[in-house]
Amino acid sequence: MKQALEAVSALEKHLGRETPPHHGWGAALDLVAPRRRSSNQTPGVSRLGTEGPDTFVNREPHELAALLEAEQRSGSRVALLRKLAAWWRPRLEQDGGLSRGRRMLDEQSVDQLRRISGVSQELADRIRLFALGEPVIPVGRAALRVGCRHAWCELDSDLEEWQAWLRNWAVTAEIELWQLVLWIDEVGSRWCGPQPHCEGCPLAEFLPPGGPRDPEV
Ligand code: SF4
Repeated sequence: MKQALEAVSALEKHLGRETPPHHGWGAALDLVAPRRRSSNQTPGVSRLGTEGPDTFVNREPHELAALLEAEQRSGSRVALLRKLAAWWRPRLEQDGGLSRGRRMLDEQSVDQLRRISGVSQELADRIRLFALGEPVIPVGRAALRVGCRHAWCELDSDLEEWQAWLRNWAVTAEIELWQLVLWIDEVGSRWCGPQPHCEGCPLAEFLPPGGPRDPEV
């Protein structure tokens, strides 16, 4: 990708920098059961996030559903969160994610995370990047759309090729992986949905001649 640096500059100029993610159980909770946004209220500290995964292992499902709803989260995520908490407890420290000195989960732990019912490959990779701080790249619809429409990557490329494209972009432009992923998510939700709305998009100046390619994603 030739314009990696320029594209990152445009993203930063239009969207600004995000606050670095706080790794740990609270971040995993926010990924699985994000808080509903209220137009006039900033969400307070999450008790369920700070208490750690034990709450989800020890309490009854109906209690957990009520606690989730009290934090403006979907109570329907209880079953998944209980399984994730059971996975989390034996291998991760409650506050900071990975045990001291470890940078990556072992293969068996990754495999068990991906096998949890309701955890897609993308969600597993988001948990690893945002909640555990691993240098793993989640590839979602927004990345697929942006990459294909700009001819930066091919739709029939495999996951490793997509991850390599994003990793190279981040390395070349010297930007943190998590920041690049959040910017692409934002571009996807504001401009690059099922139909591209390129006017005003930070990446519009990097479109190929003739405009966006048209892969159905
Ligand atoms: S310029 Fe168009 S195709 Fe490119 S990311 Fe923005 S909306 Fe999508």
